[in-house]
Amino acid sequence: MNTVRPTILAAVLAAHGAACGCTGACGTTHTAGACGWAPDQGFQPLHAAPYPPRLTDAANAAVPAAQLRPWCGRCWHRALKARREEAEQQRIQELRNAQIALFDPPAVAAG
Ligand SMILES: [Zn+2]
Ligand SMILES: [Zn+2]
Repeated sequence: MNTVRPTILAAVLAAHGAACGCTGACGTTHTAGACGWAPDQGFQPLHAAPYPPRLTDAANAAVPAAQLRPWCGRCWHRALKARREEAEQQRIQELRNAQIALFDPPAVAAG
């Protein structure tokens, strides 16, 4: 999770509204502000982070403030997990594809 200065969070909330900006990256389809987060019901405060999440904390921290969106903690953690699982599946698929080439190498051009 990003640790952002209050001024950055205030700017993000001013630009995008003081509601969770998730529109389904967490894996649950909903419109922005409709994930159930509410400021007066004991939820954790919103924080500012890139939408969709980047894979690593370092990459998330490097995203310019103009590209940040308000997130509630629940959507952020689910979206980050989904993003990392997606990348993991992609790596597995790439590994499989690479192994196919090992056992069925493309014909080498005669020269
Ligand atoms: Zn969400
Ligand atoms: Zn949310």
